[in-house]
Amino acid sequence: MIEGLAPISSLSHRRADPGGVVLREAELLCPRAGIRGRHDLVIRDGEIAAIAEPGSADADGVEVVEAAGLLALPAFFDPHVHLRTPGREDEEDIETGTRAAAAGGFCGVVAKANTEPIVDSAPHVAALRERAERDAVVPVGFVAAITRGFEGRELTEMAELRDAGVVGFSDDGGPVRSARVLRRALQYQRLAGRVVALHEEDPELSGSGVMHEGAVSAALGMAGIPSVSESTMIARDAALAAYEDARVHFLHLSARESVEQVERAKQAGTRVSAEVTPHHLTLTDEVVRSLDARFKMNPPLRAEADRRALIEGLRSGTIDCIATDHAPHSADEKEVPFEQAAMGVTGLETAFAVLHTDLVLPGVLDLELLVERMTAGAEIYDLDPPRLEPGREANVVLVDPEVEWEAGADGWESRSSNSCFAGRTLQGRVLMTVAAGSVVYRQRSFAIGAAA
Ligand SMILES: [Zn+2]
Ligand SMILES: [Zn+2]
Repeated sequence: MIEGLAPISSLSHRRADPGGVVLREAELLCPRAGIRGRHDLVIRDGEIAAIAEPGSADADGVEVVEAAGLLALPAFFDPHVHLRTPGREDEEDIETGTRAAAAGGFCGVVAKANTEPIVDSAPHVAALRERAERDAVVPVGFVAAITRGFEGRELTEMAELRDAGVVGFSDDGGPVRSARVLRRALQYQRLAGRVVALHEEDPELSGSGVMHEGAVSAALGMAGIPSVSESTMIARDAALAAYEDARVHFLHLSARESVEQVERAKQAGTRVSAEVTPHHLTLTDEVVRSLDARFKMNPPLRAEADRRALIEGLRSGTIDCIATDHAPHSADEKEVPFEQAAMGVTGLETAFAVLHTDLVLPGVLDLELLVERMTAGAEIYDLDPPRLEPGREANVVLVDPEVEWEAGADGWESRSSNSCFAGRTLQGRVLMTVAAGSVVYRQRSFAIGAAA
């Protein structure tokens, strides 16, 4: 373990029996452990017990999965999801949200604080953690608000919240408008530890925008959200982080100008990190011409030049990790005219398959790099990223890289279905997920013992 990083199993989750499984003759790939090749992967007592010559592992008393032709990867970690609990359990709850995570190959998630009510007090965090210990299929880390009630005025009790077990602080859903308030939060962050994660948007510039401001919004006659709404706030907050020697994480980058700002901050030695979503990496505002509200989210899908810059940022390491920003919404919030629809899309169940199909298979992104960036989100929240190494807690995903499937055709584990990839034929599917040492997901059509 890297010093100071906690194991993923330290997050709140329902304890299950530690699994005993041999993935026989699987194609192992783990950039952190520097492993790539065909091996038997043995999981016993919740740990990776051995990585052995193909066909040689002792399978006494454990389940054997014939995994020839399948990929065994470190399970993914999603540093940004919305579980809608408490308050909107009609859209998602901890159990359905974490089932969706497991189905997507994730061994852990970080849940944001924009619930009803907002997570801004230690008792609230304690209640949520208790609920997750009962309901969460994969470990969940909770983030608390930076400002009370997201009102942007008074800070929450950050040290007390840290002691209550939050993994970070965020007013995600919206920005911290006041530079003075954020500056004070960063001063406390230095003392409390834990990262401050920022949804960057200047409300004055975003105005009543509903999509990216550009040629498509002009053609559709819709109010746009300009790229500078995001990038100018990133510039401001990177400057504040540098001045206060604080650590900040920029959520869901969407614009080329934002990548440039993060790059500049990193070059200057400021402690910043950044994430990007699968939808911003694979779609542009062109799809909004359909007026389908499934393509409405904040930040919005932007232009092709932005998408390319995000991919380049991910490749170079300017962008540290991939996050889904899984944002479930009920049908009545989405099945309305585009301008009135709620912002947000689900993403946990399609993340890997979408990026594999649209970026890895066409040769835009290396599979190895994708795996690294889909696990690196753990580190942002002071957690040890999953890796395939003997003696480690078992966080493993088994993927069939060849199989094609239609997203959503078998329904969703999530309680909501506002996926912008529904109906897409994708190549590559999660067959099995091991999280915190236990098997937490098996794909229905995946017959154990008769795989491939
Ligand atoms: Zn956000
Ligand atoms: Zn979000």
